[in-house]
Amino acid sequence: MLRFKSLGSGSGGNATVVESGGLLPFRLLVDCGLGIRQLTFRLAQSGLQPEDINAVFITHEHGDHIGCAHALALRYRIPVWMSQGTYSAIGSPDFDGLLHIARDARAIDMGGLQVMPFTVPHDAREPLQLSCNDGSSKLGILTDLGHATPHVIAHLQTCHALLLESNHDTELLDQSAYPHFLKRRVSGDYGHLSNTAAAAIASAVTHGGLKHLVAAHLSAKNNHPCLVQDVLSSALGCLPGDILVADPASGTPWLQF
Ligand SMILES: [Zn+2]
Ligand SMILES: [Zn+2]
Repeated sequence: MLRFKSLGSGSGGNATVVESGGLLPFRLLVDCGLGIRQLTFRLAQSGLQPEDINAVFITHEHGDHIGCAHALALRYRIPVWMSQGTYSAIGSPDFDGLLHIARDARAIDMGGLQVMPFTVPHDAREPLQLSCNDGSSKLGILTDLGHATPHVIAHLQTCHALLLESNHDTELLDQSAYPHFLKRRVSGDYGHLSNTAAAAIASAVTHGGLKHLVAAHLSAKNNHPCLVQDVLSSALGCLPGDILVADPASGTPWLQF
């Protein structure tokens, strides 16, 4: 049995805790795109302290994902995983032996939790997203990508829970005051998923065992939780309220499956 909790999601910062079951749970922090004080505060609100985190996985170098990773790792002696490209992109700082390099489709055994990173198309050096599996439950995390690829869809099959980017409504983005270059970047093949693109991914991987679908990384300006719930629920044939939306500041409750 796994449980997970978003500590917040959006362009202001992303962090998610994934916890394996058992007497000695293993806790993985996926991204820590917050300052260390804010991260500590949000962990405390979730009943955790930084000392409870056993490992950190960083998906890519953008500030809303890497945040305080370096300071957190060194202060609490937590091992950190990221791609070689991400490590290069942040200037290859000294992690004092705590750094591990993650590679596309190369499973990482974290003791009760198997992490499977996979490459995604996004405007970062070597971005990875991931699935987490304890042998009976599988969580997919997919927060920053411009479009779905067969590789992405293959890695998200058989998930029992999915944290899925649903960044923007295409019309709201078109009508927004964003400069043209930024509209093109966000909606481009290496930007972020629109609600309809997220719905297409959800439809491609849904199955009877999918218990939780959490929409994440919503644009504060070019989206709305109700729009996301409408688009995703009509694609999946469920009720809008069945789609959870990760809040930028408070994330989600703990979700177990
Ligand atoms: Zn990004
Ligand atoms: Zn992001």
